[in-house]
Amino acid sequence: MKKEFAVIGLGRFGGSICRELAELGMQVLAIDHKEERINKYAAIASHAVCADTTEEKVLKEIGIRNFDHVIVAIGDDIQASILTTLILKELGVSKITVKAQNDYHEKVLRKIGADIIVHPERDMGRRIAHNIVSNNVLDYLELSDEHSIAEIVASNKLSGHSIIDLNIRAKYGINIVAIKRGNDILVSPQANEIIHSGDILIIIGADSDISRFERKAL
Ligand code: ADP
Repeated sequence: MKKEFAVIGLGRFGGSICRELAELGMQVLAIDHKEERINKYAAIASHAVCADTTEEKVLKEIGIRNFDHVIVAIGDDIQASILTTLILKELGVSKITVKAQNDYHEKVLRKIGADIIVHPERDMGRRIAHNIVSNNVLDYLELSDEHSIAEIVASNKLSGHSIIDLNIRAKYGINIVAIKRGNDILVSPQANEIIHSGDILIIIGADSDISRFERKAL
C-alpha cells in the first residue's frame, strides 16, 4: 500500500517537501491557511486543502488520523506550530515530523511527543560552514548534540594508505563506516582497504574529533 503523507505549511521548506514527495510518486495532502499557497500546490500535491490547523475540528474533518506521516512545516508562527503538533498528537497521528525554529521550540515539541524534529536552517548552516572551512567536507549530519556523520573526500594525504596504516580510530577516535568509490559503496570496509584519491569517506564520531581530523588529516 502506498504511504499517505500530509504537509502542513507550504512555505519554502514545506513546499519543497510536498513537491519532492509528489515527484517520488507518494500520495500527499498539502495544507495551508493561505489561499494563494493552496492554489500554487493544488496541481502538484494529490489534494490541497485551505485550513487553519490550529483548529482541532478542521483536522478531524480532514481525517488527519489516517495519514501515515504528517509534516508540520509552519514557519515563524511557533505558537501555531506547537498547537498543531499537540492536536495531531491528541488525535493519534502515528508519525509527526516538525520543523523547529529554535532550541526552545524543539524542547516543547519533544515534550509534546513529536517523533522527528528538524532544524533545516541550522543544519544547512553547519554543513556550509564545514564545507567552507574544508572543501573536502561534502556533507555533515548531526546525530546528537555531540556526534555527527560526515562525508569527506579523501585527500592526497590519505590516498595510497590502508585504513590500518592511517590508524584513524586510535589517532582521532573516529570510524570509517563506508567508502564511496565511483558507483560502488563499501560498507564497513576492512582495515587493510587502501584509500584511493577521490574516495568519499563516510565517517562517524564526536564533533570535536571530526573537526580535529578535518584540520589535521586532510
Ligand atoms: P518557510 O521558512 O519554510 O518559507 P513560511 O513561514 O514562509 O516558512 O511558511 C509557513 C507556512 O505555514 C505559510 O505558508 C503559512 O501560511 C503556513 N501556516 C502558518 N500558520 C498556519 C496555520 N495555523 N494553519 C495552516 N497553515 C499555516
